Amino acid sequence: MDDEWICGRLGEDEPWALGAVNPPVFENSLFTFGSAQELGEAIRNEDERYVYWRGTNPTVDLAQRKLAALERGERAKCFGSGMGAISATISSLVKAGDHVLVLGAVYGPTTQFLRYLEKFGVTHTHVNDLAECDSAIRATTRLLYFESPSYMAYAVVDIAEVTAWARERGLVSVMDNTWSTPIFQKPLTMGVDLVVHSLSKYIGGHSDLVGGVVVGPSRLIRPLALTEYQLYGAAMSPHDAAKVIKGLRTLPVRMPAHQERGLAVAEFLAEHPAVRAVNHPGLPSHPGHDLAKRQMSGFSSLFSLVLDTESRQEVGLFLDNLRHFRIGVSWGGFESLVNAPALSTEESVRATMGIPVGLVRLSVGLEPADTLIKDLGLALEGVGRLA
Ligand code: PLP
Repeated sequence: MDDEWICGRLGEDEPWALGAVNPPVFENSLFTFGSAQELGEAIRNEDERYVYWRGTNPTVDLAQRKLAALERGERAKCFGSGMGAISATISSLVKAGDHVLVLGAVYGPTTQFLRYLEKFGVTHTHVNDLAECDSAIRATTRLLYFESPSYMAYAVVDIAEVTAWARERGLVSVMDNTWSTPIFQKPLTMGVDLVVHSLSKYIGGHSDLVGGVVVGPSRLIRPLALTEYQLYGAAMSPHDAAKVIKGLRTLPVRMPAHQERGLAVAEFLAEHPAVRAVNHPGLPSHPGHDLAKRQMSGFSSLFSLVLDTESRQEVGLFLDNLRHFRIGVSWGGFESLVNAPALSTEESVRATMGIPVGLVRLSVGLEPADTLIKDLGLALEGVGRLA
């Protein structure tokens, strides 16, 4: 099964689709049964039977089948947001007294969620590499959580190495693969136990959807689907699942287009005198480039640059000068976006995260690279001192 076929056709030839080129959206909140006994049986196996949309839905199921196949996993469960998937996944793997290792920089709210878990007696430690993992691991450590490339800095983790380390010590590994999408990286094939995604980024692709997914073996997904999915209630709606299915149709052609434009913009910025650094693992100058090329088949178009300034005002002026890039959170859509943590994060938080004042994050969309490069060049010139 190739990825193009999975994205475009898998699961769509079911009799209930009646040959429709786009599968029908099941908008019903509940299903009815011929007898009380049938209902009872369905409720007892609710992760596999259609009962109520907070648990299961055929349109959501179709999106799940495609996402599981793309990640080469047994099963997937879609959520109403990436954070829904992340918080349910972590919760399903830990209990009071347990400890979590967080390797490298991860999405801010993921860290916030781990801090939130402290009130239930679950602790965590942030580490930067395997040597630090060796010192920080405890008898109560259950879980190793990481992203690759990492959040904001886009550092590359050796996935096979860290998952082998985790497995030898009986830990479950969970990796956020949102940056690469399963088109460019398949962490389950490198030993990761569970992969999570925000579907709100490249997979949705049109900035019209917030969703999440966790993919992995049935033995880990089934308990999560029966417990945390049902109890936290962060269910994906069938309408959003239809948008995921639509996003997947073009994902295999959108990702190479994002890659090409992202790299062209990154190469331009890397040569610009007003730019101190460009953090893009696709650039040969990136310290993780060789490793990235070994474990990924391509690069998405989210990366950061560091402006040659310590002034928040100058960073703000640079953003305001951009005409084509739009200022906003999120990423992975058709539109190019810019964001600067120094302008939106508390100063103390930014400093403890080790994010330089001049760090600017770009999500390169599907516009022509020339247009974006011209926009960035003029915006840098407009900051005056930076020109
Ligand atoms: N993971 C990463 C790397 C993200 O950047 C985000 C959101 O920006 C999330 C997870 C959370 O996804 P969502 O916004 O869909 O809850």
